[in-house]
Amino acid sequence: MTLIRAENLTKKYDDGDTVVVALDRATLSLNSGEFIAVTGRSGSGKSTLFHQLGLIDTPTSGALAVLGTNVLSLTEKQKTAFRLKNIGYIFQDYALIPTLTAIENVALPLLMAGMPKAVAYAQARKTLDSVGLAGRAKHLPSQLSGGQQQRVSIARAVSHAPALILADEPTANLDHESSLSILGIFRKLTERGITVVMITHENEYAKMTDRVITLFDGTIESDTGK
Ligand code: ADP
Ligand code: MG
Repeated sequence: MTLIRAENLTKKYDDGDTVVVALDRATLSLNSGEFIAVTGRSGSGKSTLFHQLGLIDTPTSGALAVLGTNVLSLTEKQKTAFRLKNIGYIFQDYALIPTLTAIENVALPLLMAGMPKAVAYAQARKTLDSVGLAGRAKHLPSQLSGGQQQRVSIARAVSHAPALILADEPTANLDHESSLSILGIFRKLTERGITVVMITHENEYAKMTDRVITLFDGTIESDTGK
């Protein structure tokens, strides 16, 4: 099943003097359960693509359908609801709230989505278990290793069972072993039908996915899924 359909997706940044075409007519379809790597050198448009697919930003032109919904026609409020329900985000620096424990970080978006507290905490605990962090629920981020913090952030991203996980350089700050553990978790998520889009600089990790999309100066230079 097609999860995402983007057509001629374009993002221009205009500072008055110069216009940067950060993403230039990107056309792609991503399927349910697909594990996709997005690569390309620094400045090639990877994060810009992440922001467009994640509904964090609005493209200058083009069309974007996620789960059959024309997401560009949604109001800001509808977009927020759509993101909360369908998309999970993972960042290079984990983006955990430092004053909250692991389980509180994972439960927070569930509570924000209106889930009763007991249910949210039960679900958060289950998700932490699934990433191998059952024994670390009450630790603060500062009491966890980088790899463990990233696993908390994955638990947070998947606890509401989204259809799409977007990860922007999730292993950039991790050692090899922790990176492989993160890739293993992503692989397991795709086996459950979740689509994982992982931005990475590392060729070795890109090769472990199902499909590699390479950006160059904002355009899709190659796509092994084609
Ligand atoms: P990557 O993630 O591949 O390193 P980005 O998507 O961050 O690349 O950036 C692509 C291009 O768009 C770069 O030339 C960058 O300088 C430019 N760019 C990104 N974000 C902005 C912004 N908010 N304002 C102006 N230019 C931007
Ligand atoms: Mg980037």
